Amino acid sequence: MNRLAGKVALITGAGRGIGAAIAHAFAREGAAVVLAELDSETAQHTAREIETAHAGARVLAVCTDVTQSASVQQAVDEAQRSFGPLDVLVNNAGINVFCDPLTMTDDDWRRCFAVDLDGVWNGCRAALPGMVERGRGSIVNIASTHSFKIIAGCFPYPVAKHGVIGLTRALGIEYAPRNVRVNAIAPGYIETDLTREWWDNQPDPAAARQATLDLQPMKRIGRPDEVAMTAVFLASDEAPFINASCITVDGGRSVLYHD
Ligand code: NDP
Repeated sequence: MNRLAGKVALITGAGRGIGAAIAHAFAREGAAVVLAELDSETAQHTAREIETAHAGARVLAVCTDVTQSASVQQAVDEAQRSFGPLDVLVNNAGINVFCDPLTMTDDDWRRCFAVDLDGVWNGCRAALPGMVERGRGSIVNIASTHSFKIIAGCFPYPVAKHGVIGLTRALGIEYAPRNVRVNAIAPGYIETDLTREWWDNQPDPAAARQATLDLQPMKRIGRPDEVAMTAVFLASDEAPFINASCITVDGGRSVLYHD
């Protein structure tokens, strides 16, 4: 408890899934949390849930589209007006765009990069000036095991997620002298609506789910709160010398050589 006491954190895509779990965990640890989410309904719902679960929690839901730099800037400005300077930014919003490279449309390509890479940069661009000026801050980018592994037919998501690692490293080095840390988390399979939708869209959803399970060294899918605990650590003062790094949260799956 209170590992983030006094801190102000903004989490993108926090209406559901991993982002919502991070918002819950941050509030439990004493941070004021801003849910910067495209879907205002899920954002409000999660905000109410957090208020109910954590007495005295300071929570704000701001309708935000991470693909639009002005929208992200507005969310950061609103966060600062409500709670004070931003200490932590979690760039979590992301979408799956899984295509065959040669049948993919231009729109698929742009949609993927707009959310999965531009969205992360838009968050960093809006939050960094204040953090640099104050000489402290922690940015956590939600990457993926697709940031360093490839599955055929999942194009161009891994290209954008590789870019998230590049962005994390570049900005981590750029602002290290100003005590602003930029790190990433690479989750493996985590049970959220995103993964459930993917299984449900396969010809045999139950078999697809079982096939995913069979690939896991720990014989289970990860939970959103298991990513959230890592985000708490990176956002907190317990990780002051961790910078430009990526922590993998995948139960060991990406280390396996063979399926
Ligand atoms: P979900 O789809 O469950 O949640 C993502 C949230 O982001 C949704 O609330 C969604 O809103 C929101 N969002 C989408 N586009 C935008 C946008 N343009 N602006 C603001 N918010 C937006 O995904 P997960 O929780 O599973 O994934 C979260 C992150 O973790 C993503 O970056 C994903 O790539 C990454 N990840 C997930 C893994 C997994 O197994 N689940 C594995 C590895 C990485 P809406 O509902 O309106 O679309």
